[in-house]
Amino acid sequence: MIIVLRPGASREQIDEVITEIRTLGYEPSPIIGVAQTVVAAIGDERTQHTLESLNVLPQVERVIRVQKRYKLASRESHPEDTVIDVAGVPVGGPGFTLMAGPCSVESAEQLFATADAVKAAGATILRGGAYKPRTSPYEFQGLGKEGLRLLREARDRTGLRIITEVLSERDVEHVAETADILQIGARNAQNFQLLIECARSGKPVLLKRGLSERIEEWLLASEYLLAHGNPNVMLCERGIRTFETYTRNTLDLGAVAIAKRESHLPVIVDPSQGCGRADLVIALCAGAVAMGADGLLIEVHPNPAEAWSDGQQQVTFEGFRRLVETIRPFLAAAGRQPAA
Ligand code: PEP
Ligand code: MN
Repeated sequence: MIIVLRPGASREQIDEVITEIRTLGYEPSPIIGVAQTVVAAIGDERTQHTLESLNVLPQVERVIRVQKRYKLASRESHPEDTVIDVAGVPVGGPGFTLMAGPCSVESAEQLFATADAVKAAGATILRGGAYKPRTSPYEFQGLGKEGLRLLREARDRTGLRIITEVLSERDVEHVAETADILQIGARNAQNFQLLIECARSGKPVLLKRGLSERIEEWLLASEYLLAHGNPNVMLCERGIRTFETYTRNTLDLGAVAIAKRESHLPVIVDPSQGCGRADLVIALCAGAVAMGADGLLIEVHPNPAEAWSDGQQQVTFEGFRRLVETIRPFLAAAGRQPAA
């Protein structure tokens, strides 16, 4: 860290800062200028006590952090792309992963028909919420354990791997019995106790970006999973809340490029929550591929007009087929092929 002192700080005041830096476990290296003094404090600021408390001293003008706050998630600590083994299906690396399925599991017919359709189009992972985080308590909350049972049956029928959301610490153990990937939703993106519990489960985790979460906070949330012993973490950009009203959220494609640069973790894009409009999903998928995304999470429904949740943003079976065809040249240009 760099501690910038106010102009005119006395020798005693400089010495006080140097002593304090040592007490906090860093090695001070002062540069005493004619007008102003700065002190470099040498140590690993990602794991050591922060020196921001030095701001309380009247002779300190500013404390500047030099290192990133996330360590295990950073590309510096792990230059190679992480490839996650999802029950035999790789996520990350040279391939490209299509995860698709309904917003909510509604019935056996709905789920199995969707599973067959997305598999035929090239998806390898089936999404479907059994526990739904709905804005209103009067809206459909998901089928719960029955939904999980249907997801297991869909996996047995098709061989697709399963991604499904876990809403609370209480549910981690039994959701992990069904899920090949635990989905942490945007509303739980910084529920650190839930993250720790998911880390302990040992299952791969897809961590959505929070509704108004900064990229640094998103990466620090992933750091919770990594620091608690789970290396199998995927980041998921799903749009953030902005002033814009033409879309439900603003899909932040710039964040995808940044996450790929800053971190070695696979980055998945969810354009369905990202824009909330079925008619924009394909265009955003092409953008996601161009930004370096490692996969997509797409909502697909046999009849979106009758969906029990998020009907406006779910694509039909035909829409999903068209989506996969449309992104093919973009994938080739990016040097990637769908895993299937
Ligand atoms: C979902 O995937 O259906 C969902 C609720 O996502 P998010 O947490 O991104 O809103
Ligand atoms: Mn949804």
